[in-house]
Amino acid sequence: MKEPFQKALGIIRQLKKHGYEAYFVGGAVRDLLLKRNIGDVDIATSALPHEVMQLFPKTIDIGSQHGTVVVIHDGIPYEVTTFRADGNYEDHRRPESVTFVRSLYEDLKRRDFTMNAIAMDEAGKLIDPFGGQDAITNRMICTVGDPKERFSEDALRMMRAIRFVSQLGFSLDEETKQAIIENAPLLAHISVERMTMEFEKLLEGPFASRALSLLVETRLFFYLPMLCEKENELQTAACYDWRKLDSRGQRWGFLCHILRVDSPVRFLRAWKLPNRIIKEVETVLRIVQTTHSDSDWTKERLFAFGLEHAIAAETVRSVANGENVDERRKKLRELFMSLPIKTKSELAVRGHDIMKWFGKPGGPWVKEILELIERAVIHGEVENHKERIHEWLIHRNLIRGENC
Ligand code: ATP
Ligand code: MG
Repeated sequence: MKEPFQKALGIIRQLKKHGYEAYFVGGAVRDLLLKRNIGDVDIATSALPHEVMQLFPKTIDIGSQHGTVVVIHDGIPYEVTTFRADGNYEDHRRPESVTFVRSLYEDLKRRDFTMNAIAMDEAGKLIDPFGGQDAITNRMICTVGDPKERFSEDALRMMRAIRFVSQLGFSLDEETKQAIIENAPLLAHISVERMTMEFEKLLEGPFASRALSLLVETRLFFYLPMLCEKENELQTAACYDWRKLDSRGQRWGFLCHILRVDSPVRFLRAWKLPNRIIKEVETVLRIVQTTHSDSDWTKERLFAFGLEHAIAAETVRSVANGENVDERRKKLRELFMSLPIKTKSELAVRGHDIMKWFGKPGGPWVKEILELIERAVIHGEVENHKERIHEWLIHRNLIRGENC
């Protein structure tokens, strides 16, 4: 058994020892069959949440009313969820109630896609009542049961289907795709936070272009924040290679750039992104708007923006222009390495040195002199050394020698 499962085996054994059923389920089993990197290993059990909590010394109740308890085993947290069947769904997003059941079959039946509805026992035997392995072999995303019903129960599943296209490169089963087209308006019932989580995974996947195209084809895009008027631009966005964009800031920056978003701040707020990302994207886009080719990068500009923002902006610009991203990044890194100082705090003099040398009280002029020195240091006119800087100021007749 592969290591991530091996490490969690103790939990399954403990549950079984006490007469309960317990299996590995969900994404980890799917990824094992796909030979992908295995993420979080989840466990499903017939034990009720309070029974799980009694059996393990370290547990965290993260939602026992929905059946989930986190068990810390050898320092690793695992979600252990009681077999459940979902009650009626209200508002196309959440079940009114969940019922704990003692049957694995019922639990697998409430799961979204057949590839995610496979269980594995402690011996590595698969329990696959809905044909999940076939779906994986055929690289198909199919809902468990009638897709129309399943999407109407929880409309987020439509976004999940398309983000799995992006992550796995699978195709949407035709009936599943038709059901998304029919049920797309139900996405309006889903909270922005949940949509954003799936959309970010979609943008990050290796097949993001294909998934963006599907958002347009199924009309799901129409119900996503501030995208309803961006059909053509989204279709254009689907023509780019998103794989080179390797941070959240780069991906959202690229999206705003390609969609020609009027107000990125308003757009990103509509997606409820954290302020940190909004600020980063704002800076990146400001740089992109003022950079027309990689030769616009001077030492001073690079110092002013810092390497991370510069690389993000250059990535956005060069992906949009179909240029060689790796080459552009390499050039920026080399230029950055050649800077004698990388940040303002590395400058060998401070405001109080300047005031002392000039014999004058502080004021805005101090900042101006510091910037003058900074530029000179960056361009190699003077060494970043206190005495050399002092001599340089004297040499330039800015101060007289006796003031030192
Ligand atoms: P990832 O690798 O991105 O974590 P995952 O398949 O593990 O993918 P999760 O969101 O972690 O996805 O969900 C774990 C499992 O719970 C899924 O594999 C699926 O069986 C089930 N599941 C999650 N969301 C839903 C949903 N909205 N409706 C039905 N089943 C769901
Ligand atoms: Mg998961």
